[in-house]
Amino acid sequence: MLPIYLANPRGFCAGVTRAVNTLSQIVKDVREKSKVRPIFVLKEIVHNKELVSRFQQEGVTFVQEISEVPDGELLVFSAHGVSPRVRKEANQKKLITVDLTCPLVAKVHSEAIRFAKKGYVIFLIGHNGHDELQGTLGEALASGAEVKVIETVKDVHNLDKDVDRDEDKEKYKNKKLIYLTQTTLSILDSQKIINELKEKFPNLQAPNSSDICYATTNRQEAVQNLLDKLDKNKALIIVVGSQNSSNTKRLAEKSIQQGFEVVQIDNCQELDIDLPRFEQIGITSGASVPEDLVQGVVAKLEELVPDSKVIELEPTEEQSKRETTKFPSPKYKI
Ligand code: SF4
Repeated sequence: MLPIYLANPRGFCAGVTRAVNTLSQIVKDVREKSKVRPIFVLKEIVHNKELVSRFQQEGVTFVQEISEVPDGELLVFSAHGVSPRVRKEANQKKLITVDLTCPLVAKVHSEAIRFAKKGYVIFLIGHNGHDELQGTLGEALASGAEVKVIETVKDVHNLDKDVDRDEDKEKYKNKKLIYLTQTTLSILDSQKIINELKEKFPNLQAPNSSDICYATTNRQEAVQNLLDKLDKNKALIIVVGSQNSSNTKRLAEKSIQQGFEVVQIDNCQELDIDLPRFEQIGITSGASVPEDLVQGVVAKLEELVPDSKVIELEPTEEQSKRETTKFPSPKYKI
């Protein structure tokens, strides 16, 4: 018998649900009310290949730059948020915009603006080039902050390439310093960076509450619970989600760091494994992954191994409580 353990919570978070539901509603409204208006989305609505492809099939156009959108048209901002420069360009082009930035990303933007205006140097911990980080960085810079983007512990050591650690300390000793983080980071890895920053700059301050969101926390805890149930010498971990999804990648990394064999796939069509090698399967999915994709993987495994048993793990009380987070759709005109 092949046990298939499902991590819980997994999949859609409140910010993704809000973005996906609102865009679906916009597609419906446009069809019913105006019929002719094209719908543009800047970057991916959420980082999931399948969802983007489903919206494309509904007629939604995804663009990388505002310049690709004709003046006066409808443009949706993704759940990852945008910088003030993007909003300004959209205004100049008189675009009708719908902003689907997750409220928890918007919270980090507000912090960046608030601390920038108070004269803080901001250490922004996150993945350089990620859409969310670009938005937060843009907000901080537009509000006049000195910002240092930190991706790894090594970046803390190399903060200023031409000076050594003592000189760095001296340089920032009398400044007001704060760190902020991307919402989807590894809790453990970001804590290592924060510890290193604190050691280097004892005057470093923390935001009032963690910027790593409840959904990231829950999914990382859930995958740990899953790993604790399995034997790394017998199990395969299947992480469902796209390669450019930060929170999904963190789930795969966590499993790899603990010695598990891992495959990260977008859907069941990509499942290409030597199943007889494994006696246990664990499955989880990132915050931008629709549950039907996970169920597709489960169905394929059941088809390949008729003698299999699906075991849905239970979330803790605390995780269940956090997972009740919901965000209403924003009001919009089209
Ligand atoms: S992962 Fe967190 S911050 Fe990102 S959309 Fe979901 S709830 Fe919002």
